[in-house]
Amino acid sequence: MQKAKAIELDVAVVDGVELSGSWNRMFEPRAISEYDIAVLDETTAIPGAESLGYCYQCGKCTAVCPVDTVGDYSPRKIFRRTQLGVSLVDSPDLWLCTTCRNCLRVCPKEVNMIQIMPAVRERAVLDGKAPDELLTAFENTARYGNPIGESPRKRAEWAKTAGVMVPVMAQKKSPVDVLWFVECYPAYHPRGKQASVALARLLNALNVDFGILGNEEKCAGDSQRMAGERGLFEMLAEHNIKMLSKYTFNHIVVTDPHAYNAFLHEYPKLGGDWPVQHYTQYLAERLSALSFVRSIPRRITFHDPCYLGRHNGEYDAPRRLLTALPGVELVEMGHCRETSYCCGGGGGGMWLDSFTRDYTSERLSEKRVREAIEYGADILAVTCPYEVPRFEDAVKSTGNAGKLAVMDIAELLAYSVGLTDEYAAN
Ligand code: SF4
Ligand code: SF4
Repeated sequence: MQKAKAIELDVAVVDGVELSGSWNRMFEPRAISEYDIAVLDETTAIPGAESLGYCYQCGKCTAVCPVDTVGDYSPRKIFRRTQLGVSLVDSPDLWLCTTCRNCLRVCPKEVNMIQIMPAVRERAVLDGKAPDELLTAFENTARYGNPIGESPRKRAEWAKTAGVMVPVMAQKKSPVDVLWFVECYPAYHPRGKQASVALARLLNALNVDFGILGNEEKCAGDSQRMAGERGLFEMLAEHNIKMLSKYTFNHIVVTDPHAYNAFLHEYPKLGGDWPVQHYTQYLAERLSALSFVRSIPRRITFHDPCYLGRHNGEYDAPRRLLTALPGVELVEMGHCRETSYCCGGGGGGMWLDSFTRDYTSERLSEKRVREAIEYGADILAVTCPYEVPRFEDAVKSTGNAGKLAVMDIAELLAYSVGLTDEYAAN
């Protein structure tokens, strides 16, 4: 694109005095038109990234972007840098956004980072410019069906430790009411497995007719999609849809808000359209059937997962479960519900901690843990499988070991109902 010419102003002279007003034309578009905006044009030409060009620099996003609290970042800044000729495809900025959606909540021009980021990242991935640790997560997912690199044959091994029936659909060979889509961290991570055991016991206590896919399940793939690997996401989705389609069930219950997002919005586009609930929604509807036998006399605060809350509007179900626990005092952090801050794990952030360290003063999970402690919480309750490992690490790295326990809501419920013995892991 050619540089636009500065506006030529008429000069009016009255009684020998120049009245052009050129001295106060500082807000004319002259300054902006002097930039070569070829890089901005190239970026906004990427399908999905068009709205980056709508930015009019009001700065509302900078005030709410969690990454700006630990770095120098926001859509306004990304737009400005692109306008000045810094290619987003080549910039570290491309990998810092957690797709938390907080900026879109306030942006008057609907600059949509939830579309811009995966679109531009996809271009960067194709150009071989993605950070190595993200590529490792992609390769693990492609090879093993999970980003951790665990054996697909071990995906259902956690169920052997549950102490209750966890039927696998291929063996059950009969219809079920609920297909529980377990996901990767709840199947493999040591703390994720503890939450899975708790949820399995709760489902049994409620006499739910359920089954899991077991080894036939692969990662739902939503975070890989947001991190720029749409092709991998589609491969995973097609596999999961094919496996699910073999069985008869009434609805899907998911452990993971990222899987919830995929089943709600993305899988239907690929032919996988089933009613889906996050497990907190499912349990909240059945609260009256749970008998609480143990009190938890603790101050608990809740971290809203971005992909359950801001992305999909569910703020109440987790709180209904927490307030039902005998003895619990629920305190809200300053950033809660719609204004909640991200744990740093969304949009591929789960696999980019080493990369982001060079561009941020601390991890978002560390900032969130400090906030929970400031509000006097004994327990940080979570309901996304990325969060227990992220926040437990952050409790230790901020020097707060022993001051704050991180618990999945399923673990708290199972303890209070008398199905497990532990509720404070650290
Ligand atoms: S809120 Fe929207 S329009 Fe305002 S600076 Fe941020 S991206 Fe630009
Ligand atoms: S989606 Fe979240 S992390 Fe990304 S730019 Fe917007 S506010 Fe910042």
